[in-house]
Amino acid sequence: MQFCFSNPKIQTLLDSALNACPCGKKHALETTGCVIDENAAAMLAEFLKAYAHPVVFCDTNTEQFAKKLPFYTAENCVVFPGDGHATEIAAAKGEAFIAEQKPDILVACGSGTLHDITRYCANAVKMPFVSYPTAASVDGFMSGIAAMTWYGQKLSFESTPPVAVFADPRISAAAPARLTASGVGDVLGKYTSLFDWHLAHLLTGEYECPTIVALTEAAVEGVLDALQNKDSITVLDYTCRVLEALLVSGLAMQLTGNSRPASAAEHHMSHLWEMAVLNGKTEALHGEQVAVGTLAVMDTYKAALESRLDWETIAHLNFEKIFSDEVLRPVFGDLTPGIRKENMPDGTPASSSLAKIRVTDPAETAAKVNELFAALPDAAVLRSLAESAGCMTTVVEAGLPSDDSFRETSLRYAPYVRNRLTLLKILSACAVTREN
Ligand SMILES: [Zn+2]
Ligand SMILES: [Zn+2]
Repeated sequence: MQFCFSNPKIQTLLDSALNACPCGKKHALETTGCVIDENAAAMLAEFLKAYAHPVVFCDTNTEQFAKKLPFYTAENCVVFPGDGHATEIAAAKGEAFIAEQKPDILVACGSGTLHDITRYCANAVKMPFVSYPTAASVDGFMSGIAAMTWYGQKLSFESTPPVAVFADPRISAAAPARLTASGVGDVLGKYTSLFDWHLAHLLTGEYECPTIVALTEAAVEGVLDALQNKDSITVLDYTCRVLEALLVSGLAMQLTGNSRPASAAEHHMSHLWEMAVLNGKTEALHGEQVAVGTLAVMDTYKAALESRLDWETIAHLNFEKIFSDEVLRPVFGDLTPGIRKENMPDGTPASSSLAKIRVTDPAETAAKVNELFAALPDAAVLRSLAESAGCMTTVVEAGLPSDDSFRETSLRYAPYVRNRLTLLKILSACAVTREN
């Protein structure tokens, strides 16, 4: 297997990451290759000849594609509900099927949720899995992280990346346009996720790899270019470009060893909404929520730049209050202990990402933060890009509450879903510290 990307820049950056990367880290990939090819099903069947007993994970929407795979039988296929989530219940069903069938490899035939279930199960029994994406809807196909809703809390489990990815773009191109728009939303989220990565590197010395940043930027550029030429290229070509960006973003996560290049404040908004602690259950897709989250976060970041960051408060955060029951319980209720553990893994504020901020010269740091801000696209430009892709752009479109306070409360509490440092987390912590 090898990686077959149409954008030569991506191939060059990937080679650079894998061969003496300038960041000094030795990057490795568990995925051995990927293809976006109309012949993907036959190539997948050929690949699986090295295995004795593959089984297919699909859902009621993607079962039709599973049935067309050359190695499909009704017995070697487990079908999950099409509108289901990646929960502890789905994981138990997958593991029970594995125990009964005793396969030696799993095939994920579906979109993001189905991949999370397959990936989680594959990792639980230490078995390889191969990815057969059916929609250009999310960037998780190639990643090694299973995003699960575990007993109500949205958690990321260190898991297994696929050994290979075989994508037939005709299937994704024929999928509802909403799915591809969701994939574009996930890609546009990289603007804020990369910004937050740069910021964390600047403020805490968190590891950052310039090659992986460039790789992710190249993926975003590919989609921007496709969006600008949307009217002159075919739906199939457009879908191929989105698929490529999504696969590259997943590869960037794999090279980093975590989701840092692809997920920050904008994803925390989505995670919060999926936890349904401020809102009822939303039917909006992951990438739809990320698009809405990205635009809300971008507006907030631009406003923070205009009003200047409050370095005095940042240097004297009131951790006791930030992680207090008084602040957390009204929103997170029974999930509060889990939220506190996520934010303070060793039980003390010292293990909060916020405690790792070191600013010796606020003026110099402020100048560097301004440079990072300047590199962000204009919020209005990003909004029109999202609209041209058919992405959702407002909380109301995502089926979330329309009152003004909902958006603000989301921005305040979203950073608590992860310990990861973001500007939104800093702004939220400052606001809590300042309140009486
Ligand atoms: Zn590197
Ligand atoms: Zn995502």
